[in-house]
Amino acid sequence: MQKIKSLVEARKEFSTQIKCEEHLTRMRWPDGVICPRCGSKHLIYMQSRRKWQCECRYQFSVTARTVFHKTHIDVPRWMMAVWLMCHSPKGVSSKQIERELGVTYKTAWYMTKRIRKAMIQDRLGVKLSGIVEIDDAVVKSDHGRRWRGGSYVVGMASRDGDIKLAMLNRFRGKEIRRVVAENVEYVQAFYTDGHSAYKKMHELGPHKYVIHQKQWVNGKVHVSFVENAWSLFKRGLIGIYYHVSTKYLQDYLGEFAFRYSHRHEKARLMDLVLAAVKFSDVVT
Ligand SMILES: [Zn+2]
Repeated sequence: MQKIKSLVEARKEFSTQIKCEEHLTRMRWPDGVICPRCGSKHLIYMQSRRKWQCECRYQFSVTARTVFHKTHIDVPRWMMAVWLMCHSPKGVSSKQIERELGVTYKTAWYMTKRIRKAMIQDRLGVKLSGIVEIDDAVVKSDHGRRWRGGSYVVGMASRDGDIKLAMLNRFRGKEIRRVVAENVEYVQAFYTDGHSAYKKMHELGPHKYVIHQKQWVNGKVHVSFVENAWSLFKRGLIGIYYHVSTKYLQDYLGEFAFRYSHRHEKARLMDLVLAAVKFSDVVT
């Protein structure tokens, strides 16, 4: 799929329902349309209804079982929302979607939530391997002016550029190891800083660490990949979302990890969100 480089180009490409449907069809079925229910290619296109009928009798539109499945929002707006969320490195707030697309805040919130779910779904089964950097951070959550503390989060990054971010129930070595174990396989070495919480990382695999006060980079041992990801995430959080309640923090972490892990393949981002087949099964 050709890359749409700017907001202006996106607005042009997704200006009408027909254009969006053509774009989606090319993206979803580059080798020809197949039935999302049974996989058959024996289909009849019903021009007036803009739907296909399969030999299994299933009738479907191009949005069937995608992130747009059974919604009343028009496809051009959906496509723009997906484009915006995929191509803003720090993320897009519902407020911004409301303004850009001329929808109500409630609709914008619903759209971002659904698109975020598709992004999270893309990352679900991914495990990091090789050298895995681990670093923790605290995400502050303030409500109004009253300080309510924050949430501990752990970031994991492999040297091929994949990241995973997860919330911790509490800041303990054991809890960190539990979360890390869920997200890695075939680890060559864990790299961390010298914090005592990482003392027993060797239980999961070879462990090397760098003591920040003394040296920023100890040979090849450093955690700067994951630190870079954290700093971008935090800037996004402060600049875009501002208020993220603990309830939704894991979803924002998932959305960010999706964009960051695919940052060198931007042309594929929309495909990955839109091609989330059987999406209707996971959206409630
Ligand atoms: Zn069929």
